[in-house]
Amino acid sequence: MLTLDAVSLFYGPIQAVSEATITVGEGQVVAIVGANGAGKSTLLKAIAGLALPRSGQIRFRGEDITQLAAHKRVKAGIALSPEGRQVFPDQSVRDNLELGAYSRKLSTVDLTRAIDAQFDMFPRLAERRSQPAVTLSGGEQQMLAIARALMGEPKLLLMDEPSLGLAPLIIKEIFATIRRLRDAGMTILLVEQMANLALAVADRAYVLETGRIVLSGTGQEMLQNARVRAAYLGGG
Ligand code: ATP
Repeated sequence: MLTLDAVSLFYGPIQAVSEATITVGEGQVVAIVGANGAGKSTLLKAIAGLALPRSGQIRFRGEDITQLAAHKRVKAGIALSPEGRQVFPDQSVRDNLELGAYSRKLSTVDLTRAIDAQFDMFPRLAERRSQPAVTLSGGEQQMLAIARALMGEPKLLLMDEPSLGLAPLIIKEIFATIRRLRDAGMTILLVEQMANLALAVADRAYVLETGRIVLSGTGQEMLQNARVRAAYLGGG
């Protein structure tokens, strides 16, 4: 569904990503793990069209999207659930969801149906549908960010650090949600510092170190890899 071929990105003179080659198959959950500043967010931005590679190619469902504008990628079926939630704070939960569907131009009936589908998936959001998003807890805001991304009915969901700043119990809930999405057939590219959780849910995984992919394999292989265990899973 998605391939990155030797993609490199720079911020001015700083190289953030070096020749990253990544494949995401339909229906897979693929994880990119790595430390702070490894280049994970930059890679997702490149796929979403928010940062342009200096070299390399990005293909989505057979088409070269390397230079395609971000809004056209949304239309093509790529949704980003951004780092740090970034919900619209003063808008209600329902309005946030509605904004997630804006590129689909739905009728009122279809829009209501799509929102209700998200409320089925995230009952806590349903209970809080009229509250401004700013009044939600961190975990609820993360759920809202995911639900809003899903409102566009994406073919590929990009998730940037869904665990960021959340309590362990809430993180578990978020990962349970990722499993449910996977079981429903969603294709997900997940960027995470919580390597243990990300690898446990991933079909495939890549380890990024200072902008370079240094290891890849199945999630299970990466969980058992000595180098991954030492660097990202607290030893053992
Ligand atoms: P984190 O988990 O902390 O978000 P990350 O793996 O997502 O880290 P990136 O945010 O992609 O890493 O950053 C990769 C590198 O690019 C870092 O060295 C960072 O300092 C640099 N960088 C990121 N954004 C910019 C920017 N707007 N201008 C200059 N350098 C940047």
